[in-house]
Amino acid sequence: MSYVIDPDPVPSLYVHGSPDRFAVRRVYCVGRNYAAHAREMGSDPTREAPFFFCKPADAVLAVPEGQTALLPYPGQTADFHYEIELVVAIAKAGIEIPADRADEYVWGYTAGLDMTRRDLQAQMKAKGRPWEIGKAFDHSAPMGALYPVSKVGIRTGAPIYLDVNGVRKQSGNIDQMIWSVPEIISQLSRYFELRPGDLIMTGTPEGVGPAVKGDVLQGGIEGLGTVQVQVT
Ligand code: MN
Repeated sequence: MSYVIDPDPVPSLYVHGSPDRFAVRRVYCVGRNYAAHAREMGSDPTREAPFFFCKPADAVLAVPEGQTALLPYPGQTADFHYEIELVVAIAKAGIEIPADRADEYVWGYTAGLDMTRRDLQAQMKAKGRPWEIGKAFDHSAPMGALYPVSKVGIRTGAPIYLDVNGVRKQSGNIDQMIWSVPEIISQLSRYFELRPGDLIMTGTPEGVGPAVKGDVLQGGIEGLGTVQVQVT
């Protein structure tokens, strides 16, 4: 068997301390998972069930550790926002995973940017239309090297931050999530069978804002990865 057209390469992330890559299957994202960010987006941060959206696997921009990747400023927007997020990588398949067993499904962690065409997202929200043009565009998910759980363990608290041109813009702690990582895995696996290679972007703390050409975005989660890009 051969393909009638050549398939694209499998999207993948770098792995801390290894020459091997983590093959990406799907990218799931959680909306409004920190109370202060929900408020800044005009929502009431009550503990309603989490909601999810997706980015295509090839929206991932894999950033080698210690390097700065170039992030093209996308078309059709005048309000290109950063959102620093903890990314959770899934190790094995599961459906309807109980929260108290969800840690077994975590392969590792890294820092990622849920880049957003905020003006397009707002227009789609207002019309009750899908968010893809605001969220799921090319290069919209820069991510650093994965830190395997085999090296760092399961983590429930760690400072998360984003600097723009060396100025702190976002600051929080992953223990401030409305829905914890095990709860997210449990809820998401009710709707989709999770598979090895899936990534979950777990939401952003407050302080989101616009990036312009030339900006350097540098973010991370203490002990769990960093991501650095320059907007071009
Ligand atoms: Mn987000």
